Amino acid sequence: MQRRKFIKDTLTGLPVLLLAPSLLASSCKKNDGNNKNKTIIVIGAGISGLAAAKQLKAEGFNVIVLEAQEKVGGRLRTDRSLGVAFDEGASWIHGINGNPITPLAAQAGMDTFETVDESRVSYDIGGVLRSAAAYDNGETELYSILNSMMNSGNANQSFETVFNNLYPSKANDRLWQFFLSTYVTFDTGDLNQLSSLLYNEGEEFSGVEKIATNGYDTIPNYLANGLNVQLNQRVTKIDYTDAKIKITHNGNISEADYVIVTVPLGVLKANRIQFAPALPIDKQFAINKIGMNCVNKFLLTWNTAFWDDVQYISYTPAIKDKFNYFVNVKKFHPAVNALMTFAYADYARQTETMTDAQIIGEVMSHLKDIYGTSIPNPTNLLRTKWQTNENAFGAYSYTAVGTEMKHFEDLAATINNKLFFAGEHTEVDYFSTAHGAYLSGLREANKIINL
Ligand SMILES: Cc1cc2nc3c(=O)[nH]c(=O)nc-3n(C[C@H](O)[C@H](O)[C@H](O)COP(=O)(O)OP(=O)(O)OC[C@H]3O[C@@H](n4cnc5c(N)ncnc54)[C@H](O)[C@@H]3O)c2cc1C
Repeated sequence: MQRRKFIKDTLTGLPVLLLAPSLLASSCKKNDGNNKNKTIIVIGAGISGLAAAKQLKAEGFNVIVLEAQEKVGGRLRTDRSLGVAFDEGASWIHGINGNPITPLAAQAGMDTFETVDESRVSYDIGGVLRSAAAYDNGETELYSILNSMMNSGNANQSFETVFNNLYPSKANDRLWQFFLSTYVTFDTGDLNQLSSLLYNEGEEFSGVEKIATNGYDTIPNYLANGLNVQLNQRVTKIDYTDAKIKITHNGNISEADYVIVTVPLGVLKANRIQFAPALPIDKQFAINKIGMNCVNKFLLTWNTAFWDDVQYISYTPAIKDKFNYFVNVKKFHPAVNALMTFAYADYARQTETMTDAQIIGEVMSHLKDIYGTSIPNPTNLLRTKWQTNENAFGAYSYTAVGTEMKHFEDLAATINNKLFFAGEHTEVDYFSTAHGAYLSGLREANKIINL
């Protein structure tokens, strides 16, 4: 049920070792000492930027990371204010076998817990318990549809259009709305904008899913150790006209021989950084065509737990993408009475205009429908607002109508052998994930090392 689960269950993942030895191994090129004279500025201290910076520093380059926020991590961001780690961005290592995040997490000290998909219960409106068989059969049919529906798609049609044409009786079925929401929209983006040809793109690793328990930010904090990271530095302009690149940040101008831009696709779409000269047309086109979705996460805590002792509790409300899936945090933090829930796509954006009280009211209406009106109110709420977050303007990239896979490569393309681009949205095989972002950072570092 987690992100990318449907892909993992239906495709055989490419083990990373088959594709990434050049990324994971350090460069064969001998460091002749000249690297010390070269300054590299990395823009953004997310996992991609930090991975690149660490690799380049190890090769002797003078590396500076400029980060707009008050801490490193970007979309690997953890809020511990309630005494439990609430990951605002990534929570899971998707498929542990061959996934570069697996060994990195171990090195960094990120603790994980295997979330078992089959530990689940599903309720319909009125608190009606759905039979496991109805759920399982629907899930099997969904996988089969997702494996073949791209053959009925075309370049101009959205996933929603094609699905509704092929399966009109499912379009308004609450269980199917739930499946599409948590198995497809969560993983990709708005179904009325998702490509009907490319919705299933993206390679996956095999193995179980593991959720971070002491915070995903453990990884960026580990990577940042020993690096020259300058926080609260918002880059507004990159002028690559001359041999030395000029970077404007907080009214100051810094110069570099090479720059790696790792800001999220949403930031590029919003033109928050001025490039001089303007970016090549292919890159601008790709920025425009690849989609940036919205997923928001909510953590609610209670004095006592009143819910089922399973990992996942699902609910199939009338409104799609709305608080329809609860992760039972108590499964991996037995002393904590907390549920994590989600909103996707348009409903996720709508939540950003709602007060905390309104959010709690809507979540509680679902839980009361399941568990009765006498359940207690939550003691606390933590929430995200990824769409309006100026450091991301969305959650992660997806294949919107009009996207071609080559657009991810266009986003990764180097300009004049001095302006480099990394970030999850530049990884054609693993876009939208923490591991994709990490691999993209190593990829760009190796490009510079091998120049
Ligand atoms: C809600 C949500 C759930 C997710 N779930 C998972 C999951 O379970 N598993 C998984 O593998 N992946 C998941 N992801 C995706 C994963 O978190 C990202 O793909 C990954 O963290 C992106 O890393 P990055 O380095 O590309 O970008 P970021 O982490 O966004 O780093 C970019 C950095 O650039 C900085 N920046 C922005 N603008 C400027 C500027 N003008 N000047 C200077 N700095 C700037 C930002 O502050 C940020 O620190 C999730 C993401 C979200 C949002």
